[in-house]
Parts: sequence; structure tokens; C-alpha cells
Amino acid sequence: MNCQTCESKRLLEFSSEVTEGCHIFIDKHEYMGDLPTDIGLADRDDMLAFIFCLDCGQIQDDFPLEPTIIEGEEEAEEDD
Ligand SMILES: [Zn+2]
Repeated sequence: MNCQTCESKRLLEFSSEVTEGCHIFIDKHEYMGDLPTDIGLADRDDMLAFIFCLDCGQIQDDFPLEPTIIEGEEEAEEDD
């Protein structure tokens, strides 16, 4: 497997169990809770797992991602 951006083979595959939730900021949106599975970093809500390139920093995924639940939920609350 090569980096999708720079073709480097120096790809770091990272995974870590998330047992106490997470804290995320996306622009002005703040979220605390179970790990979201729509942010490109997890397929499960309790396991952070991603691959990134040690040469260029690119996380290996299909970008751009669709708008996340975090962004949508926060925008709905602002309408109050
Ligand atoms: Zn790269």
C-alpha cells in the first residue's frame, strides 16, 4: 500500500480502544461522547483506527467527507 497523496510506503496504521468517549472540535462545533464513525477515523464507536503517511501527513481515506453528525446536530441547536 502506498500513500494516496505522495506514494510513500511509510504508512502508519494506528488503532486504540476508546473506553471513555472523546472530545472533538469541528470549527465552532464541540462534541463530547462516543467516538463518531463518520469522521474518517473510526469504523466502530469504541475503536479509533486510521492510517496516515509519515512523509506528508495525509490520512488515508476518501475526502472530502460528507457533513458529519457533529456539524449537523450543532447547527440544529443554534436555530433555537
Ligand atoms: Zn504521503
